[in-house]
Amino acid sequence: MIIIAATNRPDVLDPALLRPGRFDRQVVIPNPDVKGREKILKVHIRNVPVARDVDLGVIARGTPGFSGADLANLVNEAALLAARRNKRVVTQTEFEDAKDKVMMGAERRSMAMSEDEKKLTAYHEAGHAVVALHEPQSDPIHKATIVPRGRALGMVMRLPDGDRLSLKRDKLHADLAVAMGGRVAEEVIFGDDKVTTGAQSDIEQATRMARAMVTRFGMSDDLGPIAYAENQEEVFLGHSVSRTQNISEATAQKIDSEIHRIIDECYSRARQILTDHAEDLNTLARGLLEYETLTGDEIIALLKGIPPVRTPYEEPATPPRDAGTSVPVAGKPRPSGPGPIITPEPQPR
Ligand code: ZN
Repeated sequence: MIIIAATNRPDVLDPALLRPGRFDRQVVIPNPDVKGREKILKVHIRNVPVARDVDLGVIARGTPGFSGADLANLVNEAALLAARRNKRVVTQTEFEDAKDKVMMGAERRSMAMSEDEKKLTAYHEAGHAVVALHEPQSDPIHKATIVPRGRALGMVMRLPDGDRLSLKRDKLHADLAVAMGGRVAEEVIFGDDKVTTGAQSDIEQATRMARAMVTRFGMSDDLGPIAYAENQEEVFLGHSVSRTQNISEATAQKIDSEIHRIIDECYSRARQILTDHAEDLNTLARGLLEYETLTGDEIIALLKGIPPVRTPYEEPATPPRDAGTSVPVAGKPRPSGPGPIITPEPQPR
């Protein structure tokens, strides 16, 4: 007889269940890696008409940590967006927008943002981007935007080349400098008194990363390659029952000062980059104010003086593979009237 069972909380199982002779094999199923995600996406788009510009590899790279169900949801969202936009096929734009929506929450274009707030957000995001461009170990920029989404007023998204299984110390330092870039840009441009609470999540994220470097990754020369367990909580059946203090007061102080030192260093790196490249910061912030969203390639071109070209979406002149099937969505007729021109007639002059 074969018994198969699944759990997502192996940590709280009764040890009696795990004794030899009970369950002989334990198979760990992690979320899919980048190749797996691409294949899963391929399965889910089988019944969705997609445009030729859709690059599943890019979508897979931009969705680390997504499960199969998350990816199915993403494809569904993209199809719904395409239907809402009266498109015949789902393009890369819908996949990008669906990904952002799933990861960050819906766009809040209607949110009232004053001109000052918009300007500050543009400089904040441009700060992240300019530091990322000048930190060689940083992942390349995928896009930057000042369209509010979820709880964020804007964001700079970077895209790793593959799933990162381990992180090098210089990459972590680069990421910390990029995280500081937003706040530093606010200071450099608007002055210390004008900085906002917008950097809250950047600061939390940076602090968490620096703490892990010191206490878990052994990346502090002062404290050495030792795991300093935080005050641990024992978990039993989902409840925390006891806390253990594993480090002395003196060590705790040392850890705090090391975290402080790492953050300070990365802050200085960001400040140096943004002072040296103040012109880039200005150009990019103005670009974000004008175009709201810029891709990584557009940012690089813009800094060389080439403004992005924006063309409104055009239906392809030739009908796609299965003409006539629009993106399936219930109860939403395609609008009549001046629709897309499938075979262009010669225009009388
Ligand atoms: Zn930020």
